Order: sequence, then C-alpha cells, then structure tokens
Amino acid sequence: MNSQLTAFITLSCTSGVLNLYLCLYVFLKRYNYTKIAQLFISYTALIAVYCFASAFGLIATTLSAIKVWTAIQYVGMAFSTPLGLLFIMQYLGFHLTRKKIMALLAIPFISLIMVVTNDIHHFHYRVFEIDPILGEPYVHQEIGIWYIIHGIFTFGCMFVSFLLVLIHWKETTKAYRQQLIALMCGQLIPMITAFIYLLGLTPQGVDPVPMVLWASSFLYLWSINSSRLFRVMPVAKDAIFHSINDGVIVLDESARLIEFNQACSKVFPQLTRSMIGRDIGETWIEVTGQPMPFTLEAVVNTQDIEIVLSDHTYQVRVTELQHVNHGKGLLLIFTDITELKELQRQLEQLAFYDELTQIYNRRAFFQQCNQAYSEARESSSAFTVILMDIDHFKNVNDTYGHAIGDQLLVHVVKVCQSVLKKGELFARYGGEEFVLALKDSTLLEGQALANLLCNSVESQPLMTTEGAIRATISCGVAEGTKGQETLYQLLNNADKALYAAKQAGRNRVHVFLE
Ligand code: GH3
Ligand code: MG
Ligand code: MG
Repeated sequence: MNSQLTAFITLSCTSGVLNLYLCLYVFLKRYNYTKIAQLFISYTALIAVYCFASAFGLIATTLSAIKVWTAIQYVGMAFSTPLGLLFIMQYLGFHLTRKKIMALLAIPFISLIMVVTNDIHHFHYRVFEIDPILGEPYVHQEIGIWYIIHGIFTFGCMFVSFLLVLIHWKETTKAYRQQLIALMCGQLIPMITAFIYLLGLTPQGVDPVPMVLWASSFLYLWSINSSRLFRVMPVAKDAIFHSINDGVIVLDESARLIEFNQACSKVFPQLTRSMIGRDIGETWIEVTGQPMPFTLEAVVNTQDIEIVLSDHTYQVRVTELQHVNHGKGLLLIFTDITELKELQRQLEQLAFYDELTQIYNRRAFFQQCNQAYSEARESSSAFTVILMDIDHFKNVNDTYGHAIGDQLLVHVVKVCQSVLKKGELFARYGGEEFVLALKDSTLLEGQALANLLCNSVESQPLMTTEGAIRATISCGVAEGTKGQETLYQLLNNADKALYAAKQAGRNRVHVFLE
C-alpha cells in the first residue's frame, strides 16, 4: 500500500472518528438541546458511515468488496447532504414537516437503490471496474445518468443551504452573524472539495470529501452551542422570564437596557426592542415622559420603593447580577401593587374610620390621641379635649326613624367639620357622641371652639323630606393641666363637664374645673 493511500485512509478514518465523537457528544447531552440535536446526531452519524465506508473501500482488494463499501458509503453520503440542508433550515427557523423531510430524502433513497442494483441496469455507473492501470483499490468509473441526477441534487442541497444562510444574513441579529459564517463555511468546505474532485484534480480519483467533513461538523456544533436558541435551559429561562407577571428589566453595569420581559409592555407600553442598548435614564424619559423617580443606588440600598405610573402603583425591587462570563448587571423588578394598595386602603378605612360619618372611629382616636397627648406632656404644651353629645337624639330616631337619625349624625359631623381646621383629631366616640382633641389649645380656647360648634349645629338644621330638623349639642371641655392626668382621666373630666351641661338644660358648653 503506497503512502498516499495510507494518508487517504488515515484522514478518512480520523474524520469518521471525529464525526462519531461529535455525534455521541450531542447524543449524550441531547436533553440540553432543542430539536436541532436530533438532526445533528443523524447528520454526524451518516457522515461517520460515509467516512469509514470510504476508508474501508480503499482497503478492499476485490471488486465485489469495493462495491459493498461503495453502497455503504452511499448510505452515509447520499442522506447526509439533504440532512445538512434540513439542519440549516431548522437553524434558521423553518418549520420542518414530515412531508418536507420525506420529499428531500426521496432522491438519496433512489440513489442508494441505484448503486446497489447498478450491475443490473448500469444507470448509476456505466462502468465500474478495478482501475486497469493503478490496480485495486482504485476504481475506474464512468458515470451514468442517475449519477448526474444524484450529483445535481447533492450540489443543489449544498447550494440551497448556502443561499438560505445568505438570505437570512440581514434578518439575523449581529450577535448571531458569526454563527451564520460558520454555517456557510460548513457548506462551502464539502462543496469546494467535491468540486475539485469532480474536476478530476484529486490524485488517483480518490473522493476527498469525507476527509474534510469533520470540519463542517465542528462548525455546525459550534453554531448550535454558541446560539443560546438551541439550548433548552436558555429557552426554558426565556419562557420563565416572559411568563412572570412582574415587569423585569435587565441593565448592564453602565445602566444600559439589555433585556426586558413581556410584562414590561404593561408597565411601559411605549418600550420597544429598538431601545435596547440605551441608557435607562434616557429611555425612562422617552417611555414615560418624566424623569426616573428613583436612582438605581437608592433601589439597591432600600427594598421598598414605590412608584406610580399611569394610575398604577408599582413596587420596584432590584437585584444585583454577577456572572463569571457576562460581567455585572442589575435586574429591575416592577410589581404591580395597585390592588394591594387599594385593599390596604380599604382595610385601613374599615379599621380606623367610622362607616357612617367617615371620620375617625374610637380605636383610631385613641391610637392618635395617645401619641399627641404624650407629645404634649413631654413638651409641656396645652392640650384640651371636647366631648359632645347630640341632645335628645333618641327623640329624632323615635319621631323620624333610624334612617333620618343616621342622616342627622352625618349632618352634625359635616357642620362640625366646616368649623374645624383640616387635620383636627375629630372622632365618633360612641352612638351620637363625638370627641375632639385640640393640640396647643387651652381650656378657654377649647370652650370658645365648643361654643362655636354648638351655635353652628343649632343654626344649621338638617333639611329632610319631613321638614327641617333642628339639632343641638351639649359639650364638655377639659384641659390636661400640668400633664398629670392620663388620657383616660382627661376624657373622664370632659365627660363630667358634658354631664353638667346636660343637667343644666342642654345646648350648652360646660368646662371641667377642679
Ligand atoms: P341626651 O340628650 O341625654 O343625650 O338624650 P339622647 O336621646 O340623645 O341620649 P340617649 O343616650 O338616651 O340616646 C342615644 C340614642 O342614639 C340611642 C341610640 O339608639 C341612638 N343611636 C346610637 N347610634 C346610632 C346610629 O348610628 N344611628 C341612629 N340612627 N341612632 C343611633
Ligand atoms: Mg344624646
Ligand atoms: Mg349619648
């Protein structure tokens, strides 16, 4: 065996082993890849068959053995080319149906039959014999009609693959252009080699294609490995990323927009993918029409920043990202808490406000008044409370009914509110009793205000369908002198004064004097 032949055999076998390795590699890791792995596994397996059959063909010593190896070679070679095309189509996102696949594999199937049965019809090789000059394993062959058809189909597949990649060049994002070049080279390598072979430029007419096919397989594997698209985990992560209800924005360490999920379209309807790569501050102004209401440092350091965007309240959280290969970044998460806030508001309303009059209830009064009173005591400032009670309210209920009684309660509150300053601690103390806590007010000031309230209520009757209902109130005023009384004692004193006012004939103000 001459050294050139040995070199051919070695190269073909090496290519076969490499393809087999790639095939097994992807097979063992197939669960990490999407459907494209199946095509790659079949492709490399067929190429391996092609390479080994080609090498064994060169070791063969009889014509019949050469024919057997040629037939086996066709199993690999004939099917691998359309499979290469299918691989590229899958890569570029074509929808591959069973019909399309079957149609593409029809010619290779016929070619295989033609080669196996060539001795009967000689359609594939008109002549196929041991080379009379070089001897075995070299073959003298004259091609037949089907060989030409098969050749055109094989070249066609490679050419179409190449064209498809070229056509998709523009639509493919820059990040994946290197992969496209790799795919194009993967097609060009066997194409050019086959062309050289057909021109008869290879020594002794040996087919050099199997020797270079390992390079194509490597390029294909690199393309799928470096395209996140074909790995299951990134695809799964993408699916999770987009299915989250919270708006998520990914920023790089220079605060540029890297990625955002589908839920962001609810938070920022104007946000588009063309804004990717731009500064978040500028983008924020563009999509919301206002500057970013927080700084990134602020969100990193505190955990509960709330922002309002088009009537929705969002909680903004941030997570710092640190990845070995991909550097630093930030994850901004926008959680819509509008409903939660509304619920919270309703709960507060229920817990602290009186349902009928919408002023503070007794619980809220004590909570707030305790605080205000202890502050007043600490700063030795004046503090006065007024207890007021509607006179003969029971008569109103008895005469006009409970509903009108309710209306009167609301009416009295409204009249008092029109006299009081905003933010005054005014609460419903009991059925038709109200309490007012006055910070920085003396007994005299409290008395004056109580008189004003009495006069206002008396002079503004409630207009009902049953006619005008004139209500009066009685008030008891007490001041926290020297800060010695507890709030309970203070209110008790005011109650004593109120009782005195009732005893004295109602519609009047009494102050508590020790
Ligand atoms: P006085 O001048 O001594 O205060 O007489 P009064 O009738 O106002 O006092 P009394 O405490 O005897 O009656 C208070 C009434 O207020 C009894 C109760 O049915 C009524 N009342 C308490 N809460 C409500 C309410 O929410 N709505 C209505 N319509 N009536 C209420
Ligand atoms: Mg009363
Ligand atoms: Mg009462």
